[in-house]
Amino acid sequence: MQSVTQETKVDVNRIRKMLGILVWTSPAIIIPLDLSIIAGLIWVGVSNGWVNFASFWWLIPAGIFSWTLVEYLMHRFAFHFEAQNETGKKLIYMLHIIHHDHPTDSDKLYQPPLVNVVIITLLFGFFYLLIGNWVYLFLPGIIFGYLAYSTIHYVIHKFKPPFAFLKPLWRHHNLHHYRFQDKAFGVSSPFWDYIFGTMPPKELK
Ligand SMILES: [Zn+2]
Ligand SMILES: [Zn+2]
Repeated sequence: MQSVTQETKVDVNRIRKMLGILVWTSPAIIIPLDLSIIAGLIWVGVSNGWVNFASFWWLIPAGIFSWTLVEYLMHRFAFHFEAQNETGKKLIYMLHIIHHDHPTDSDKLYQPPLVNVVIITLLFGFFYLLIGNWVYLFLPGIIFGYLAYSTIHYVIHKFKPPFAFLKPLWRHHNLHHYRFQDKAFGVSSPFWDYIFGTMPPKELK
């Protein structure tokens, strides 16, 4: 587990205050914002004839599925990266470990809208170069996956499981928080934990 000193935490909180709007997050902003970006991208792609409805059934699911892998890899290798220097430690703390310290804080559960828009813009450029006009359906899939993941994460920390069949999902993420920080990296599903062998033990003492 990342060892973070009290001074680092104080520093990070000071940096967060300085960054202001860059770290300010709210589901009431990000959900309508990202849904509008999804709708806008699809509308631009379809109305210009760059993508057609026949591609919906596979390009959007491909984007959502790709997101689940990104979610896993990002959480496992970036958010829990063992930084060696102080700047790295502060960055990792601010990105994720702060959420482990304050799991229910609303302002640490979604991306800040400004950061979100910058990342989506960069992703648009990257995927446009890679797959051309398919980006108008593939990227909405990725954004939808991100939004679903963030919302599931938010709901896990804020509410009890509404249905019994969802209990394992709550348990999976709570085990990551409170028992095994090196396991259970998937939040929206344990799928990639099965694939990469990071499932927490079934029987717990
Ligand atoms: Zn974590
Ligand atoms: Zn969490």
